[in-house]
Amino acid sequence: MARYRGPVCRLCRREGMKLFLKGERCYKPTCPIEKRGTQPPGQHGRTARRAKLVGYGEQLREKQRVKRIYGMLERQFRLYFQRAMRMKGVTGENLLALLERRLDNVVYRLGYATSRAQARQFVTHGHVLVNGRKVDIPSFQVKVGDEVSVREGSRSNIHIQSAFQTASGRGRPTWLEVVSQDEMRGRVMTLPRREDIGQNINEQLIVELYSK
Ligand code: SF4
Repeated sequence: MARYRGPVCRLCRREGMKLFLKGERCYKPTCPIEKRGTQPPGQHGRTARRAKLVGYGEQLREKQRVKRIYGMLERQFRLYFQRAMRMKGVTGENLLALLERRLDNVVYRLGYATSRAQARQFVTHGHVLVNGRKVDIPSFQVKVGDEVSVREGSRSNIHIQSAFQTASGRGRPTWLEVVSQDEMRGRVMTLPRREDIGQNINEQLIVELYSK
């Protein structure tokens, strides 16, 4: 599936907030949002004024923000929304739960990668196992009871080790549990609930946007 390959800090500046797309740098003073504030990207960003968003503009920005946090393009994001609509329950919450259950997100949340983009790369390169079997599809949906681990031969990989050292202290959501730190093995304890998804997201705006 296609993905955005352009400069990611620009996306944070467009959204006016940190989206944590770049791994370790996001936590350092060198993050452009820390250095320059939330001025919009581009030649006129410094002088541009951010208009207060209402209605369609506000809904659009919210959708773009969530899409970018999870590293998705429009077509794929819309498919998630359609799937969320067909599920029982609240569509917005279903959408966020589907996004959270992606394998690349789980690898990131477990602290095996410093960003979702890096987690996605670890998955596509075959470093990640689900219930002991290699799964190299980042959009794979985990279920309750699934065990997600790093392949034995990959645990000594310098990039994975360094990501693990950096990201493992970041904290984990309660729906995931680390079974063994040494074996880099975690388990899905429950499905993610709305309160487990800590980002400042108003998913109802996305529902309103796609329901027009
Ligand atoms: Fe966003 Fe991270 Fe870049 Fe900061 S360093 S602007 S949080 S991607």
